[in-house]
Amino acid sequence: MHWLIRPDAVTAFSDRGVRRALSGYIEVAEDRREANFRVARMVAVEDELGEMQVEELWRLHSELMQRYRRLRKSPEGGEAPERSLLHLKHAIALKMLERCEFCERRCRCNRRRGELGFCGTGAEARLSSEFIHMGEEACMVPSHTIFFTGCNFYCVYCQNWTISRQVEKGTPVTGGMLAEMVERRRLGDKSRNVNLVGGDPTPSMHVALEMLCHLRVNIPVVWNSNMYMSEKGMSLLEGAVDVYLADFKYGSDECALELSRAERYFEVVTRNLLAARVQGAELLIRHLVLPGHVDCCTKRVLEWVAENLGNSARLNIMPQYRPEFEAYRHRGLTRRVSKAEMREAMDYARELGLWNLEGW
Ligand code: SF4
Repeated sequence: MHWLIRPDAVTAFSDRGVRRALSGYIEVAEDRREANFRVARMVAVEDELGEMQVEELWRLHSELMQRYRRLRKSPEGGEAPERSLLHLKHAIALKMLERCEFCERRCRCNRRRGELGFCGTGAEARLSSEFIHMGEEACMVPSHTIFFTGCNFYCVYCQNWTISRQVEKGTPVTGGMLAEMVERRRLGDKSRNVNLVGGDPTPSMHVALEMLCHLRVNIPVVWNSNMYMSEKGMSLLEGAVDVYLADFKYGSDECALELSRAERYFEVVTRNLLAARVQGAELLIRHLVLPGHVDCCTKRVLEWVAENLGNSARLNIMPQYRPEFEAYRHRGLTRRVSKAEMREAMDYARELGLWNLEGW
């Protein structure tokens, strides 16, 4: 049935570019290899986590991540232990909630006591919706997409502003509840992945990690994000995420500050893209072309990708900008992207040698 709606999804896994950038993802989606979280689950934790200070938890995390990296290269069979590296990651995330630094904003508020940071997300994660998304990139669909409310950005043109800004409208959800949904979608609807998004999934990282502690099916975990995680946030995601569906928006910090209220944007996002590579996760980069931002943003994003990730990096250069939310207050953002701007963006990508472009 899904295949009738998106026939391009049927052949997506044989596409040369998809295979080049996302071979690990394909193997997990086809159940020929274990997802990263299933490898992390094999790393046993003997210590009583509830009694440990956060520094001790981080020390143990660094130690056990060595074991995870070894296991990832040469997997061993056997029974999963009762308590694993995933439980440790979840325990650290819960401690971090008391002084939240999941993302680079580092609000350091105590979300467990009801304080709210920039994202407005409290101690609970809230679900806006979950469904089989057929509108994602062909290799991703059918994608079990989980929309959390709340976002650590404030994009003036946000197309999901009812999700990102109206946090309280979501329904509180636990990791156990999410795991059940993922299992049902994987077994019943043959979802290719679980796609964690929002808003942004970063403020709900603790519940995403809790979900992985409960999850009993093998499935690729896709982190669909603005990539503004802190370094600690990125550390927790290593061994949890298989693919970063990374939204690389701006080439200019001034544009990021003006349009998303994000400081040091370029430094933070590029740092995290490189960290994702080091983690051994795979990348599918999205770049939404904004009207009037081809020179300052699109070209610099493409140049950085070509120089740092290589010309085979999988890129989705997206033309679908439309003025939404508060875009009408910003001169230049009240129109769609012109054909000439899209052509310029695509020509520039090709000039740089970037060939692995989604849908072109
Ligand atoms: S997730 Fe980011 S924006 Fe939200 S409270 Fe934590 S540090 Fe602040």
